[in-house]
Order: sequence, then C-alpha cells, then structure tokens
Amino acid sequence: MHQNEILKKYFGYDSFRQGQDELVSSILSGRDTLGVMPTGAGKSLCYQIPALMLEGITIVISPLISLMQDQVGALVQSGIRAAYINSSLTMNQLYTVIRNAEAGVYKLIYVAPERLTSEVFLSFAKKAKISMITVDEAHCISQWGQDFRPSYLNIPQFAAELPQRPIMTAFTATATDRVREDISRLLCLNDPFTLVTGFDRKNLYFEVRRPSDKSADLKRLIADYDKEGRTGIVYCSTRKNVEDVCQRLCDSGFSATRYHAGLSEEERRANQEDFIYDRKRIMVATNAFGMGIDKSNVTYVIHYNMPKDVESYYQEAGRAGRDGSPSDCVLLYSGRDVVTAEFLINKSYEDSEQEAEIAEETRRRDLKRLRDMTFYCTCGDCLRGYILKYFGEKAPHECNSCSVCCSDSEETDVTVEAQKILSCIYRAEQKYGVKTICDILRGSSSEKLLNARLDKLSTYGIMKDTSEKRIRRIEERLETMGYIRRTEGDYPVLKLDNSALSVLRGEKTVKARLPEETVRKKEQTVYSRDPKLMEILKAIRQKRASVMGVPAYFIFTDATLADMCEKRPVTNEQFLGVSGVGSAKLERYGNEFMNAIREYCEASPEQAPTVVKKAPNRLKTDADRKQAAEELKKGIAAFEPAQESMHITALVSGMIIAAEANISAANLRTAVYDWLISENFLQIVTDDEGESRKGITERSGEIGIYEEEVTAASGKKYTRVLYSTQAQRYIAENIAAHL
Ligand code: ADP
Ligand code: MG
Repeated sequence: MHQNEILKKYFGYDSFRQGQDELVSSILSGRDTLGVMPTGAGKSLCYQIPALMLEGITIVISPLISLMQDQVGALVQSGIRAAYINSSLTMNQLYTVIRNAEAGVYKLIYVAPERLTSEVFLSFAKKAKISMITVDEAHCISQWGQDFRPSYLNIPQFAAELPQRPIMTAFTATATDRVREDISRLLCLNDPFTLVTGFDRKNLYFEVRRPSDKSADLKRLIADYDKEGRTGIVYCSTRKNVEDVCQRLCDSGFSATRYHAGLSEEERRANQEDFIYDRKRIMVATNAFGMGIDKSNVTYVIHYNMPKDVESYYQEAGRAGRDGSPSDCVLLYSGRDVVTAEFLINKSYEDSEQEAEIAEETRRRDLKRLRDMTFYCTCGDCLRGYILKYFGEKAPHECNSCSVCCSDSEETDVTVEAQKILSCIYRAEQKYGVKTICDILRGSSSEKLLNARLDKLSTYGIMKDTSEKRIRRIEERLETMGYIRRTEGDYPVLKLDNSALSVLRGEKTVKARLPEETVRKKEQTVYSRDPKLMEILKAIRQKRASVMGVPAYFIFTDATLADMCEKRPVTNEQFLGVSGVGSAKLERYGNEFMNAIREYCEASPEQAPTVVKKAPNRLKTDADRKQAAEELKKGIAAFEPAQESMHITALVSGMIIAAEANISAANLRTAVYDWLISENFLQIVTDDEGESRKGITERSGEIGIYEEEVTAASGKKYTRVLYSTQAQRYIAENIAAHL
C-alpha cells in the first residue's frame, strides 16, 4: 500500500499536511530524519505511517505516560496494533506486552526512556527486528530544550546494542538551532534529512486584551465559549491564581477543574482525566499542565497572566485547535504580569546554584525573553507576524486573523504626543521610570514630584488631559520602535536612543493603534452548520466513549463530527469519505452514526443534503449489475488483501475503494453473501436467542473463513465471522463473476 492509502485507510485523512509527505518518504527511503514542526502540526503521523509500512517493529521513545497512553489508545482505535511500556504497568502486564511483542503482535511499541536499557526490554529488543527508533519530543535530550530529561541520553547506547542499526528519527516543536544541533549530535543521527515546517498555525486566532478587570473579562469570554459548547484551557502564572480563578468560575456555574504542582498526584490525575474525558469543560492550570496532552477538541486557550517568554506562550496557546478547527488564543495582559515575571526571574537567579557568571547570563537571557514577550502584548503590530518573526520566519504585514489586524481602530498619527514624551524624558535627565514620566506630563502634585522639583520642568503638565493609559501605550510603542530603552534592574529607568532625535526634530512620524479595548470583529467560528445534528452525534460519541472508558476524541474528533454533519453519510463509502474516518472506525462506529444520520434526515427532510436524496445504487436492473461487475473486475487488482483478518464490512469497503466501483457496500455485501452461501462456504444459522446470522460451514476453512467469539463491552457474547488474507484474496478474485 502507498503512504497515501495508509493515511486514508487507518487515519481517514485525504491529504498530508505540510511537511508530512516529505518526512514519511525520507524515512521510507531509509534515511535518518529530523522533523521540526509546531505543536498540533501532525508529527505523529510522520512516524506512524512509516512504522506501518516498514517490516518489523518501531520503537517510539516518549517522555510522558499520559502521552503514550493517549497515542496508543488512539492507534488501537484506528485498528493499529500498538502497546506501551512504562512504569504504569504491573509486572504481569509488562510480561504480557513483552510476550506479545515477541510474537510479533505490535507494529509500534512506545517506551519511556528509563525503560529502554532495562534488562527485560533489552533482551527482547536484541532478538526482535527493530526497523526504526523514533524519538518524540526530542528537545528533551538537549539542556537547552525546555524539558531536559537526562535519560534521553541513553538512547544511542540502546541503539548501539541492537544487532542492526535501525533508522533513527526524531521529532520536536522546538525550533532553535542549538536544540536542533543537540538532537542530531546526541542521538548520533547519520546525515539526517531535516525538515523545518512553517510555524504558522492558520486556524488559530490571536488576541491580546488589556481588561481593567481581568476576572470579569474572563467570565464574559468564557460565557461566550460555553454557549457554543466549547472546551478550553485557562493558564495562570501561579498556583494561587489557579485556585482563585477556578473557584470563581465554578461559583459562576461553569464546569471547571484545576491543575498545578501543589495538588496531590491523585488529584492531578483525576482532574486531568475529567478534562480529557469531557466531564469538565474548562481546565484552569499553571504551565505544569499540558505537555503530552493531545486533546484535540480544545478550541480556546486563555492566558490569564502573561507567560515568561514567547516560546512558552506559543507552545501553550498551540494546544488549541489541534484537530484543525478554528480556535482562539487570548492573552489577558496587565503590567503587573511583567512585574511578577521579573520577580520570579530574579528570585530564581538568587536561588540559583550555578556559577555566578552563568547564573547572571541566564538571568539576562530570561529578562530579554520576557521583554520580547511583553512587546508581543504591547507593540500593536500584527500578533501572528510578531510570533513568526520571533521564530525567524518571514510574515506578511497583516494576517487578518489576530486582534490587531481585525481591530476597528486605525493607526493614528501620535507624533506630537510622542515628542512630548521624549522631550520629558530628556528634560528629566533620563533618570526616571515610566510612572514618574507620566506623572510629570500629567502635572501630578505628589510630594515625591514636588520634592524633586520636577514641577519646574517645561514639560510639567503638558499632557494634563491625556489618560495615563494612553501615555503608557504611546511610550510602549516608542520602546518597540527602539526610540526608548529601559534599563535593567529593580527600578528601570527610561533612556533615549540616539534615533529619538529624528522624532523630536519632526523628521520621523510615529503611528500607533490605540483602541480603548480591542474590538472583536472576526467572524464567529463555525463549528457545524447543523448544531442540532452535531449535538446528536456528540451524544452518541459520548455514550460510546463512556462505555469503552476512552476519551470521546479517541472515537472521532470534533472536526470529524463537523464534517459528518456536512456530508451526512448514509452509506459506507460516503462514511469513509468523512475526514478522520478510516476502515477500522467505519467498522466499529459506522452503523451507529449512519443510523442516527438517516433518522435525522428522515425526521427533517427539508434539511437533507443531496447525498441522501440521490437514489442509491440498488443494482435494480441487469444493466446496473453488469456495470458494477465490470468496474469491480477492472479495478479489483488494486485491492491488496490485508495481513490481518477482517470482517465483511471492512472487506467490502476495501474492495469498493480499491476498485473505485460505483456500488453501495450493502449491495456488494449481499452479493458476496449470496454467492458464498450458494457455494456452501457460509450458511444461515440461528443463535440461542432465535436471531439468525451468517455462520461457517464445513467448507469455510477451505478458503480461510473462520469464526471468533467476542465479548462486547456490555458483557454479551456473540460470534462473528472473520475473513483471513486467503479468504480476502479468494473473494476479491471471484466476486465480479458472481454479481
Ligand atoms: P503534534 O505531535 O505535531 O503536536 P499530532 O501528531 O498530535 O501533532 O497531531 C495533531 C492533530 O492533527 C491530531 O488530531 C491528528 O489526528 C491531526 N492530523 C494529523 N495529520 C493530519 C492530516 N494529514 N489531516 C488531518 N488531520 C491531521
Ligand atoms: Mg506530538
């Protein structure tokens, strides 16, 4: 099978996203590969698809238990055999996994780095055919990465102990050269193909707000999101803020939970699960929450406090919209956040056990990063553009999808006000901070000012009627434009850059956007054009998910449900046409969802889309039948029997897709059954409860058809018929003649 077919069959997607195709191809060509893509870009598929196509096993090294459980759970749902090995397994479970692995059950095994060099695992790995090692979140190997993990350094040693060197691949969202070089060097990658994709996430809308009352503003925002049934994360900088904000949201009747390092491990796990399983819609958390959480239906991330650098911000905000749905990243800015962040940086400097020189360098670097983050909030330029430029990418002047580009306020000429501010700084001999400069300009009669005789300056009171807020905004603008510098230290003082002269002389104009409050005029995000059907489908998903004990998005993501509402599939082929539906999910959930859609369309026919009205191919006439048979005959060579056994539904839809035949799955299934029964390869049997079903005969084995007993989640046992590789081939080769 080609990589595009795997993408469709297992993951249900029609096309690769940017970079995925190249990375997959590089791996398949046997070359070491390093992929650098932003959070949510789809790194997992880049190694999961080759893993399915390569002979043997792929080992995925992953830093977090929750991350592994999540990925393996999602893979299993998609019909892929995978397992994980980490400290959450009991001894018995561990041995079961190893035994299965030895028997060749898994294509992918996720392993915690600490487990790699354990005796049990190593002795298995030495005997097995390991074709690839993938290191996910590979920045963990670098001291310069945010989440350095020493045990990542064991990976090369592990690889060296294997009889044959596997293809080595690594993935991260950290873009800096330093980290990238470390990954390559420390993992001993061999001339790796390296691909860094654009860091832009088009489905994210960025917004900075400066509310005078954050708490009230947050409630308003969340109330809007909540009405639309959306799920999101609120990040706060301190544990105390998390406690307060969460409490207030709960008091206002929102479904919120919390997460920070001060909670017991038990509570953290419980709260995280409540959020992941959609029992709670809002997670209020410190930055301790999130790494490895691939909850795809988070459609907003609000920062209640400004984070300490742009890297952290983009990573945290990037947890919104992972399934590609339009999502919002909102930052509630206040000057206090800057002060708090500075305090924390200085404190960690004082507590640092590093050598003084190194500690000082770190402190400086952190303060610089903080300043860059502050500018994001204050500069008044396109927010997306600011982030992209920060990561070294080119960006257009306007993105039309951030609060700056979408704000109603135009840039206004503030040159005269700017001159007054610059001149005041100059007259005050560049000895004061922004607060004092504002006070002078506004003609304050505070004691401090009078004592210092600042009321005698010619600039005293020349902006009496301007709000302090406006003066500060213009001052910030001047800082971003490089006319003013702030000194470091506890009492930063404003200094003029030489270039400020050109503004004072009137050679340069200064423009700024000065909205009182940024206005949101972006289009309301459309989740589904049919919220009623969406609700119905979500309810089915929820019910299924609770029975199976998995998060709802393991079954289908919101984006997939929205596409279902759009396409309203009622046949298997149509269902497979929905983005995010592969054959395993068709088989598992197809009927249930299609029945609901059918019922819904019948109940409200005026809303039924064309696909339902179109007469299904019923093979009514001989001509229809002949044509379907012709198409199948012509195209069936493209059908490749699977290694694993499958049910009739998957087999039938597999044949239809491969042959691109214009026949409905139900009709083809009936034709297959009729023929097999007439040949006595199958028979109709009646079970204990008097229900009839297809069952095997003494001839079934000849062509590889057999039965299996399964227990449903409800505890009910039933028997189903399975078609081995041999049976699949036999049926594909002969069905056309029997239509
Ligand atoms: P990353 O590891 O880069 O942060 P993931 O691999 O977790 O991102 O993928 C994020 C989401 O994008 C997942 O829900 C995944 O199913 C979805 N996705 C990945 N590739 C595609 C694709 N080609 N088309 C549509 N959705 C995709
Ligand atoms: Mg990932």
